[in-house]
Amino acid sequence: MSPSSIDERGLPLVDLHRQYASLRPELQAAIDRVFSSSEFILGNEVASFEQEFAEFCGSPFAVACANGTDALELALSAVGVGRDDEVITVAHTFAATGEAIVRLGAVPRFADVDPDTLLMDVGLVESLVTSHTKAIVPVHLYGSCVDMGPLMTIARRLGLTVIEDAAQAHGALYGGERAGAIGDAGCFSFYPGKNLGAFGDAGAVVTRDPEVARLVRQLRDHGRSDKHEHSIVGRNSRMDALQAAFLRVKLPRLEQWNLRRSKLARRYRFLLEDLRFVRAVAPPLNGVPIYHLFVIEHPDRDRIRQQLSSAGISTGIHYPIPLHLQPAFAPWSEGPGSLPVTEAASRRILSLPMFPEMEDHEVDRVVTALGQPLSQGNF
Ligand SMILES: *Cc1c(COP(=O)(O)O)cnc(C)c1O
Repeated sequence: MSPSSIDERGLPLVDLHRQYASLRPELQAAIDRVFSSSEFILGNEVASFEQEFAEFCGSPFAVACANGTDALELALSAVGVGRDDEVITVAHTFAATGEAIVRLGAVPRFADVDPDTLLMDVGLVESLVTSHTKAIVPVHLYGSCVDMGPLMTIARRLGLTVIEDAAQAHGALYGGERAGAIGDAGCFSFYPGKNLGAFGDAGAVVTRDPEVARLVRQLRDHGRSDKHEHSIVGRNSRMDALQAAFLRVKLPRLEQWNLRRSKLARRYRFLLEDLRFVRAVAPPLNGVPIYHLFVIEHPDRDRIRQQLSSAGISTGIHYPIPLHLQPAFAPWSEGPGSLPVTEAASRRILSLPMFPEMEDHEVDRVVTALGQPLSQGNF
């Protein structure tokens, strides 16, 4: 195939089909195993996944649930967050982080982010604490860990609970510990495009606290204490056995896939050094990121996005509208101007193609396309 015919094919932001092709026989076997067992919800397959995922995270307990949003809501509920409690988090995140807080009747308080990492600026957290503050939800966005050392110190001193939103950080490390296993509980999403993705919705809560694990387990399954007794009002947020079986095929590969993402990120970073105006969002100093996304900043973001699109390259924006500027969160927002770093970042960020099956020459293709208008002085 000539280079020009390779270039004519579109390059997606994430290509899930390449991964499926490499796993097909094992996934088919997993389907057959689940169908033959006739155990479709929770059961042995889910229990085995919980054990394997807890081990991967280095945490004693993992409790599977229906999706990452539920994981956050169940974990917050299990640690006692409820009506009128304040929860400190960021606005530079996916809507789910705020939804989980508001759904419990609690009040989100948004901290601005660090301009280099675009993660929670831990230095600002204490100024948001009031007598109503109950918990902090740091979001390990893009696969990079929030500066958890200082954050845990503040939380312990003030008696606050820390629930990590690790929905983009399966396997990321901070000071040798896995994302999700550092705070009081960690919440994961296995949405198909995540670093560890199911073939549908799925999620999990990880914790070292047996009481939190027990409560999440009970809440996700109608508050049951046994088959016919419902000791608390719960809900249905169970994981399907099929999703657990698929996740068990993928989990043993996660570390390798994350390493491959890091190599691709290094290549991006090296090639991008030659491009003025483009800044790769910096990974934090204290951890090993897993590059769920590779994000750059550019003052004329929409224009370079169009440029890449013309070259057949898909990109994303995570996220163009911060939570405090979303209509849904208006009641808990101090409005435009209240989070200057978040707001500036939301206008400049662009997520470039990133997935473990991506090839080196595809990174080169993205950077070449990025360099075109810059070298021609079209800005
Ligand atoms: C994906 C995601 C969630 C929600 O997960 P779902 O499984 O889609 O409900 C929560 N927080 C962040 C940061 C996410 O990226």
